[in-house]
Amino acid sequence: MDSLYFSPMLLGLNLLLASAVACSALWYFSRPYRGPGLWMLGAWTLILGILLFMGFMASGNALLNVLGNATQLAGEAILLLGIFRFLGLPPPYWTVPLSASSMALVCSWHWWVAPINSEWLVAIYAVIGGLLPFQACWALWQAPAERELRGVRNFVALALLGYACVTLLRAGIGLQDGLQGIVHSDVTRSFSYLLPYNFGIPLWVIALVGLALMTMRRILADSQRHAEQAQSSAERFERLMQVANAGMLVLQQGRIVDTNPRLEQMFGRRRAELIDQPLGSLFSPASQANIADLLLQADGRPHDVEALRANGRGFPAELSVAALDSTRQQVAEIRNVTHRKVLEDKLLHLATTDPLTDALNRRAFYARAEHELKRAKRHTHPLCLALLDLDHFKQVNDQHGHAMGDQVLRQFSQLCRKMARSTDLFARFGGEEFIFLLPDTELQAARQFLERLREALQNLPLKTPQGSLQISVSIGLAQYQEDSTLHLLQEAADSALYRAKQNGRNRVEMLP
Ligand code: GH3
Ligand code: MG
Ligand code: MG
Repeated sequence: MDSLYFSPMLLGLNLLLASAVACSALWYFSRPYRGPGLWMLGAWTLILGILLFMGFMASGNALLNVLGNATQLAGEAILLLGIFRFLGLPPPYWTVPLSASSMALVCSWHWWVAPINSEWLVAIYAVIGGLLPFQACWALWQAPAERELRGVRNFVALALLGYACVTLLRAGIGLQDGLQGIVHSDVTRSFSYLLPYNFGIPLWVIALVGLALMTMRRILADSQRHAEQAQSSAERFERLMQVANAGMLVLQQGRIVDTNPRLEQMFGRRRAELIDQPLGSLFSPASQANIADLLLQADGRPHDVEALRANGRGFPAELSVAALDSTRQQVAEIRNVTHRKVLEDKLLHLATTDPLTDALNRRAFYARAEHELKRAKRHTHPLCLALLDLDHFKQVNDQHGHAMGDQVLRQFSQLCRKMARSTDLFARFGGEEFIFLLPDTELQAARQFLERLREALQNLPLKTPQGSLQISVSIGLAQYQEDSTLHLLQEAADSALYRAKQNGRNRVEMLP
């Protein structure tokens, strides 16, 4: 026990203990980086090995000697595996059992089979312990280069190389002493024992400090890279906002925190005025009702809304809202869709109206008439349907030409639409035949209206090169009965029209 006082071994143990604590702290503070975990495990295994060996020195127990030597080498090997892991290389795990078991075998042979010169034992330990760092040096120099780590990797490799050389030198001395039959009874007076404690352990500590620096350097490089990436992505986002052809907004809890120049143009409002305003303030009161839902869904799908310029004029727009990032900010995109709306209206007009007379076409009439019929049925409202056929129209064409005939059709249609209510449906049904559907109208009221129309047509000034032209219309009227269909109603009006033609034309006939 006395031999431990002021012994280099105790000094070495304390230094390694300090490094193990430092490795543990390094592992804890650098998580989840890979490598420091194995350095910590290796350092503590090494200390366990030294403690076992000290146990042998105190007790003389051979088993503690075997276990102590094997555990120390295993610790060294584990620690060096961490370097591979740190560099992203597959660690050569086999070095741990190989170095520990070969040392255990040699020691067991010495204790239980045939004693080996103790200097040779030291030499064998040092050969294994000296070869292990070479592999780590090779990894440090060979692994794919990381520019930021190049210097510190060289530093660690040189420290390990120094440690390996000192250890191998010790092996050489041990081998020579063994050959000469020298046995050092007082280790404090032996150069071969002092070599590892005075040079080996300090170099080992320097290498561990290097490992810590290497880890810190990588953390620093990574955070610099992340900062650069964050900055470039912020710049890209800024550029995107500048060049986007749509109005873009960044929102925080439904309020505007950023806008792009296109949005300022679109709404005629300055960015400074818009900041901190609720998104809804950009839209008409009718559209504002949907904004809360849109913000909640934030599904990026476009919705039709009516946007309001600073001067209070509205324009049709498409609004989409999507989540921007984990900070619960949202991005909204607003497009002015006036052109699209105009085009849609044009297409709808083309699809539903007759190009010559601008009255509804047959298809549009049927679709809307069915709807009106259902409404009349549900609310038991009165409804009438009238078929109108211009009298002797063939003669107009024959006497004044087809173009004049067209002109008459247009003027008649214009007159009908002018005199009808906005809720009435008026359509061109065929050549010179038209149809009226009069919702919420009793038979008598319908008749009065049609009589007024008939008379108005007679007074319509139709000028032709051959003089003024007089034209009349025959009208068949039918009233909606419970359970009648559009088809039945139309047939009844047709019969009434036939009767009007039969009874001399230019008249309104009706069937109940
Ligand atoms: P009725 O009093 O019995 O109804 O006699 P009508 O001549 O009006 O009837 P008829 O069915 O014999 O003739 C309809 C005419 O309408 C024939 C056709 O040339 C004309 N017509 C149909 N469509 C158009 C059109 O788009 N433009 C012009 N100019 N004429 C049309
Ligand atoms: Mg006809
Ligand atoms: Mg006719």
